[in-house]
Amino acid sequence: MARYTGSSCRVCRREAVKLFLKGQRCYTEKCGFDKRSYAPGQHGKGRRIKLSNYGLQLREKQKVKKVYGILERQFRKYFQTASRSKGITGSKLLELLERRLDNVIFRACFASSRPAARQMVMHGHVLVNNRKVDIPSFSVKTGDNVVIKPKEKTVKIVKESADKLKDRGYPGWIDVDKEGLKVKIARLPERSDIAADIKEQLIIELYSK
Ligand code: SF4
Repeated sequence: MARYTGSSCRVCRREAVKLFLKGQRCYTEKCGFDKRSYAPGQHGKGRRIKLSNYGLQLREKQKVKKVYGILERQFRKYFQTASRSKGITGSKLLELLERRLDNVIFRACFASSRPAARQMVMHGHVLVNNRKVDIPSFSVKTGDNVVIKPKEKTVKIVKESADKLKDRGYPGWIDVDKEGLKVKIARLPERSDIAADIKEQLIIELYSK
């Protein structure tokens, strides 16, 4: 399962927006984007290029890939699945991304960032319908019960995270039991549940060329 292993702050600077890839650190003065809000690289500071349509589409796709922590091949598969589904392709694409198990753990505030949530899943700390699932891309469906394994050390860490992050709030499609460290998938996510500043239409235009 390949993933991007470079600097997260560099990604935010490249996309010229805070993507909150490092959990708590993103809310402190240590945030790399707050310190240097220009493009990375030797000439990043002086460079002000007006992007073409293609450039805008490409940057939007790259941004979404980095937000959800996935690489090109997998992202394209999500697009293909979305374009074969009924409904608006852009909304369907975001729905598929939101349904990823690592995203559910992140949305439930059980981890401070998606990379941390991904690690928690891969290390076998998450049960779905009473069965261990260690695949971050596992797609949840309505009625699924996602539970953190009742292991003392894990429960302590996750509860601390849930307490710290509780002000972030939960999206309407999941019911979170903060004490029991359980999530019930109440319904599938809709476009309005995803607050992120994503222009999915640009991604569709890019892949439809
Ligand atoms: Fe992005 Fe700032 Fe978080 Fe680094 S610390 S990942 S720049 S939001």
